[in-house]
Amino acid sequence: MYFIFQLEFNSTKTYIADFIRAYAKQIEIELDVFQDSKTITISAMSNDEKLEAFLQGLEEVLPASLFLAKSKHFFREEKLVLPTINSTKLPTNIAPCPTCQKEMFDVSSRRYYYPFTSCNHCGSQHPFLDQYPYNRANSSMKFLVPCAACEEERKSNALRVDYPLISCIDCGIGLRMLDKETEHMALDKGSYRKLFEVSGRAIALGKTVLMKTMNGYRKFFKVSAENASSSTLLMASAGGFNEHLMLVQQEFNALLSIERPLLRVATKSDELKLLYGSSVLVKFPDDGMSMLLAREILNAGLEYIAYVECDSSEEADFLVDFDLPLTSQNDTKIFINQDEKLFVSGERILFPQVVKNDNGIVSLAHDLLAVDGDGETIIDSIEKFTSIKGNGVHILEGEAFESGHENEKIFPQYKASMMSVLAEHGKVGQKAIGVHFDGNLNFLYYNGKEIINAVPPIPFESDNLWEKISTLREGSDRLVGNYKKRYPKIWERLDNLKGNMDIFEVTAITLGLEDESFEGISAEALSFLGKGGLQIDTRVKDNRFDNYAFLTSIMSYQLGDVENSYMCYSIYESFGDYIGEIVPQLIEKVETRTVILTGETFANQSLYGRIQRTLGIYKPLMNKSLPIGKENAVYGGLYL
Ligand SMILES: [Zn+2]
Ligand SMILES: [Zn+2]
Repeated sequence: MYFIFQLEFNSTKTYIADFIRAYAKQIEIELDVFQDSKTITISAMSNDEKLEAFLQGLEEVLPASLFLAKSKHFFREEKLVLPTINSTKLPTNIAPCPTCQKEMFDVSSRRYYYPFTSCNHCGSQHPFLDQYPYNRANSSMKFLVPCAACEEERKSNALRVDYPLISCIDCGIGLRMLDKETEHMALDKGSYRKLFEVSGRAIALGKTVLMKTMNGYRKFFKVSAENASSSTLLMASAGGFNEHLMLVQQEFNALLSIERPLLRVATKSDELKLLYGSSVLVKFPDDGMSMLLAREILNAGLEYIAYVECDSSEEADFLVDFDLPLTSQNDTKIFINQDEKLFVSGERILFPQVVKNDNGIVSLAHDLLAVDGDGETIIDSIEKFTSIKGNGVHILEGEAFESGHENEKIFPQYKASMMSVLAEHGKVGQKAIGVHFDGNLNFLYYNGKEIINAVPPIPFESDNLWEKISTLREGSDRLVGNYKKRYPKIWERLDNLKGNMDIFEVTAITLGLEDESFEGISAEALSFLGKGGLQIDTRVKDNRFDNYAFLTSIMSYQLGDVENSYMCYSIYESFGDYIGEIVPQLIEKVETRTVILTGETFANQSLYGRIQRTLGIYKPLMNKSLPIGKENAVYGGLYL
């Protein structure tokens, strides 16, 4: 008899399956681990006396992952053999796993308060990689020679067998802490700990600490009304979550997952409401530096602090630094609506990624490159590749890159985004309707060969705004006059806009929001707790979305004293209704029921909810293992 344990795992990342294999080796049980793009399957002899210990132990050491969902187990007579992903070992950029964390807080280990603690399946590996292939000689650790104990571990520790970036306090990276007058080096256990302790206390006393983390320089500080705006909230322990934040279980799990994404959530405690308003961008420590600092923040009596991303020249009271050069990735933001998780934007967590690429094409978008190496196509930052070869080069328009390849093609964002979803869901070559919403709203049609912009937006130019609005329809000029009287300052600003701003920026300025962007409107919409119903006008003629009509409608509601949060909520609801009306019309014309949604604007609770209601019957498809907005283009570009 065989015992089969199946975990739903929605990614081709192998660090969880590899971890399970390594852990099985560690406790010396024989079993098979298979992985396809949706499931990890473990198969063991059901009478193995170590099975129970393995399963119990696994529960303790297996990292919680964003990609893990339901699990089940069953028994089976015959041996199970499944095909399995067997991809190149790629560097991770996630938090330390539970076993590595334990070492960091164990005073008897060689890695006590050592922020670079990691193993084959966890930690910040990608920042150290100079170029592929991934090995120590190609990393910024190449000049650090592992000590005897680390060398021994590379043979005997199942979690670190042949681990390229092995190091410990004895042989690893030294830290230093500087203020205006002095410099302290951390070279042994006591001084590593001391450095984080001093940093934590300084922050608790109101000082700022600039720290080089594996995810770039961050300036950490105690949050106050003066410095809160546009900072990210760093929770020091999971204990404070439910007191300060309004979280559903899925959001809580996602924040604590080993991938440690960024997530915007509603505030709950009065103190956080005062600091951040209705919602805040939240992070649980995602690398060794932030994690050790968080521990000392907690010891200093704080439940949370904040940080801003910055560069090494940022002014601060203290600097915590180390010499090794790193390359940091853009952080990844996610969006959660009930059981759906979407990656909104970013590189960390998702890249590098192995993808299918039958035609040997090279694709470039947003400084990410999809390129074939050793029979597998890897997507990663362009600077990690030394040689770039392929049968053709597909480049996102606007990229400053000259391939010189005779087979070069330039593609627009919306086409590549739609194509990436089709490819992810195995729908290439089948008709589909697409909606790409990234500030601008595009309705697309894929006839199985190419993507056509079926209902393009009326171009929006934000200069000479009042002229465009006053000639929109009869009576519009009166509105402009009333608006000037009532909101002279906003009128003035709107009169002097440059031509290249998107509709959300202009809307945010019109509403007088502090965060003058799409994010600002989203955040404001989150704080609306009532029911919708306010109809914002989105068009004038021929069914196309009209930005000027939209702004005019908002202004007249503003003159009618409609609250900002209600208006922002209604903006997305109206978009949802508009999309929900156009898509079925297109579907009827071209006979398909496949609907593809792309673009970051969909990562909004009221719009997403509305879309589920209006288009739910078509079960719209979105990216699962790529960001829904920009970065998916590098993958879609392979298919254009
Ligand atoms: Zn680990
Ligand atoms: Zn060592």
